Amino acid sequence: MSFNFVRELPTPAVVKEMYPVTAELAEIKKERDRMISDIILGNDDRFLVIIGPCSADREDAVCDYVSRLTAIQEKVKDRVVIIPRIYTNKPRTTGEGYKGIVSQPNPEEAPNMLNGLIAMRKMHIRAISESGLTAADEMLYCENWSFVDDLLSYVAIGARSVEDQLHRLTASGFDVAAGMKNPTSGDFSVMLNSVYAAQHPHHFIYRNYEVDTSGNPLTHVILRGAVSKHGNTVQNYHYEDIMRLLERYDNMHLKNAAAIIDANHSNSNKQFREQIRIVTEVMHNRIVSPDIKSLVKGVMVESYIEEGAQHIGDHIYGKSITDPCLGWEDSEKLIYTIAEMNR
Ligand code: PEP
Ligand code: MN
Repeated sequence: MSFNFVRELPTPAVVKEMYPVTAELAEIKKERDRMISDIILGNDDRFLVIIGPCSADREDAVCDYVSRLTAIQEKVKDRVVIIPRIYTNKPRTTGEGYKGIVSQPNPEEAPNMLNGLIAMRKMHIRAISESGLTAADEMLYCENWSFVDDLLSYVAIGARSVEDQLHRLTASGFDVAAGMKNPTSGDFSVMLNSVYAAQHPHHFIYRNYEVDTSGNPLTHVILRGAVSKHGNTVQNYHYEDIMRLLERYDNMHLKNAAAIIDANHSNSNKQFREQIRIVTEVMHNRIVSPDIKSLVKGVMVESYIEEGAQHIGDHIYGKSITDPCLGWEDSEKLIYTIAEMNR
């Protein structure tokens, strides 16, 4: 019934010294941050495709997956910017289950936070080195941001964290794009208040320091669908939902209105193949409505090498151990469809 302080963990500076980022990787990140920022700011009309497994459960399969994206990125570079999803921190609905590589470097073994922090940083570095692509991750634990702030190009605040003050204030200090998800209840006010908070400067305690942040103008929203009080899923990617969002955005006077549509989770009700239809519908709505075209700047897709999901211990290479994902071939085709429809 109390805390057991297992051990003191190294600071981010110590872990960064152990696993430093090279000048070459820093340059890749700088260039990609600029491209992504230009898209959010509306200065570049390419489309963001944030794509990858629900959880980045093992380094070899994740780096293999991310490297396969490199060839596709080259082919669609005039119309699409691909951001691999490398999610190392996993929120759980009841708190039970696999919590990501940062907690369990081996999903079949007990949590080990020291090895987890190292595994998280090592995997992100290897993925950039092998693919030339910097990734998106979820900030589940605010203090973990400092272990990867020199590596990530995109950070999502999850549906279960978006109402939390520390998450909002921490995002106000990011110098990369931050996506605020709608909460599981679907409330747009919570999501937009979170964008407002993160776009403004703050003064608070972060990792044992008193800090000031500048406010992050790249903060925007991610629509992931919702669950009603009766337990039904409620989609929020349709034409009418986006038009309603646009109106709410205008009323809040936020900077750089932008939305990413998460095609899985409550939008697909985790019917992972539906992501193809959902993304195609979103792309179609962008073609018919200039308002939607300028607001919707990307999609998020859960995808891995093998389609579907497996149980921990099934040991299928490249198959999700959390939410079911689109398989490689469908994912590749979908990216080409997106590129084709971003006109
Ligand atoms: C996820 O992206 O895998 C996730 C857990 O999302 P959400 O916070 O929308 O449930
Ligand atoms: Mn997921």
